[in-house]
Amino acid sequence: MASQIRNIQTLLDHLELTAEQVGFSEQAAKDFALQLPASLLQRIEKRNPNDPILLQILPHKKEMLQAPGFGTDPVGESAYSPVPGLLQKYPGRALLILTGACAINCRYCFRRHFPYDEQEPSLEQAITWLNEHDDIHEVIWSGGDPLTLSQRRLRHLYDRLAAIPHLKRLRVHSRQPIVSPDCITPELVDMLASPRFNTSLVVHCNHASELTDEVARALLPLRHAGVVLLNQSVLLAGVNDDIHVLSQLSERLFACGVLPYYLHQLDKVQGAAHFAVSDERALALHHALRDSLSGYLVPKLVVERAGHPSKVPL
Ligand SMILES: *Cc1c(COP(=O)(O)O)cnc(C)c1O
Ligand code: SF4
Repeated sequence: MASQIRNIQTLLDHLELTAEQVGFSEQAAKDFALQLPASLLQRIEKRNPNDPILLQILPHKKEMLQAPGFGTDPVGESAYSPVPGLLQKYPGRALLILTGACAINCRYCFRRHFPYDEQEPSLEQAITWLNEHDDIHEVIWSGGDPLTLSQRRLRHLYDRLAAIPHLKRLRVHSRQPIVSPDCITPELVDMLASPRFNTSLVVHCNHASELTDEVARALLPLRHAGVVLLNQSVLLAGVNDDIHVLSQLSERLFACGVLPYYLHQLDKVQGAAHFAVSDERALALHHALRDSLSGYLVPKLVVERAGHPSKVPL
């Protein structure tokens, strides 16, 4: 992994801000560590405590507020795991949690309390389970961030899955192409472009300022190779709960070859309540997007509710 920033003073010095100005909390950083790739620093505006990328990574004192309804397993995932590291929640699709690691720690992450240590993924068990379930046609690589794994491990996994005849589609969910675009190597492109699977990559991007020209250039070979590129965002107060910000995000995504797929209402994870946007406001923003953008630039506004057979449109 490229060089990481885990020290608050390094971050503050670079941004020419103080801990007080940004609302830093030591306790929040203990609960869920500060972490971002050093290369992301260039995309954060100096002396702006409200920069949209900074707000996504800064351990903030607001995280200490207890909010009713915000818990540690907000989407009730633990109930859907037939074998360690595999979730099967929706028909036809199985999700593999390949790692707990990410290159960035996003404060709103619904997996910030996920018991990765108890869920040591077992590739053999997952492969056996998938072999036995021929109603599964799509495998989703998730995490953590699957693209933090070495190319060697990804290739091994790919080959094991490729040998399961009823699997048709491979989907990779990763924020890594956005925050560390150099993870998109020629080997990765070759693998994802291989015709064995219909392959899609869902990047996780919340603001147009994350989509630098470097990101656009890194995504291009995947697009040329026929990998379907989609984005999912989380609606975050102070970051992107604004019609202009959301419109710019959709337009910039498309310019990078990526179609907006989902706009998620925040999962109610403890420590993230200050990012919550009310359903009324979320719907109003979504209507405004529909009224101003081409249809294919409007993501589906969804919320995850435990016990539903799909993500639920708001
Ligand atoms: C979101 C999700 C999926 C994929 O859902 P789509 O609506 O197909 O994008 C699959 N499995 C799990 C556990 C999920 O959370
Ligand atoms: S899983 Fe995604 S949202 Fe959560 S910390 Fe990792 S990159 Fe961020």
